Amino acid sequence: MPKSSFVDFRAVKAAITMEQVLEHYGILDKFKRSGDSLSGPCPIHKGSNPTQFRVSTSKNIWNCFSECKHGGNTLDFIAKMEGITIHAAALKAIEWFRLDPTEMSAAEPGAEEEESAPTSPEAKPKKAAPVAEKATPNTPLKFRLDKLEREHPYLIKERGLTLETIVDFGIGFCAKGMMAGRIAIPIHNAEGGVVAYAGRWPGEPAEDTPKYKLPQGFRKSIELFNIDRAIKEPADKPLLIVEGFFDCMKIHQAGHKKAVALMGATMSAAQEELICKHASSNAHVIVMLDENEAGRAGREDIACRLSKHCFVKVHEFNTPDAEPEHLFPEDLAQILEGVV
Ligand SMILES: [Zn+2]
Repeated sequence: MPKSSFVDFRAVKAAITMEQVLEHYGILDKFKRSGDSLSGPCPIHKGSNPTQFRVSTSKNIWNCFSECKHGGNTLDFIAKMEGITIHAAALKAIEWFRLDPTEMSAAEPGAEEEESAPTSPEAKPKKAAPVAEKATPNTPLKFRLDKLEREHPYLIKERGLTLETIVDFGIGFCAKGMMAGRIAIPIHNAEGGVVAYAGRWPGEPAEDTPKYKLPQGFRKSIELFNIDRAIKEPADKPLLIVEGFFDCMKIHQAGHKKAVALMGATMSAAQEELICKHASSNAHVIVMLDENEAGRAGREDIACRLSKHCFVKVHEFNTPDAEPEHLFPEDLAQILEGVV
């Protein structure tokens, strides 16, 4: 194995295709094929216009003609989707597509190596071990958004949250500042520090407006929503893993406070590490993602990876597109019954 911990981006790029990457995210079928090009809504800024995002399957490049106004290769795409550097994206690609890292190492250091040293595959004892991005944690914020409107109709009428839950999670409609016009949702790290506010558009946003806004530079892939409180719950209670903020808040409201949200349908290596750090080998975990293609793909991968560390149960909904957010408390109780 070469001593160098630098990854040869060209070798990684050459080893994967855009179609594989889109498949990995469970979104390949959202694209329309025409010759060697795919077109569909932009998964990066989460647009809805079906022609704004184009992929050349022969050249393995992409372009967003809308909000992102950006394009690039497979690694640029992963970097944008995950909010990480190209180097971290290359490491992710190695992990996801089970590439041989020994073949991907370059002798020459790259320019984007600032995150590389502790996360290089060579530094890990096992080749297939997931690569956690430990280098730069999100810095806790020095401010709090106050004067949030708690009793906003979107939260109460549309999402069915009680005022108690709203106050408990510290969310609310923000009238001013960077999250103006959005529901601000504080995200805490495991130690309880607020590392970011996510801004949810209250309702269906216009085509060019993203549903969620996150601060630039914030790395959501290294955080788990509600982890700070979930780890304070009794060890014998199962940890429920869901996709979204609202799934997590509704599960909490339904009486199960040991729940975390991945903020997506995939579990990053850092999130895996975070879960395992706080779960003993006889801990029970329930993976409950949305009943759609991304959720199904995600939960299989998550269950497979977590089952090496603890007991894992995958919850499958009977109805397509079902989400944990809409579970009735009695259904949730039934699911949790008999897990431990
Ligand atoms: Zn875009």
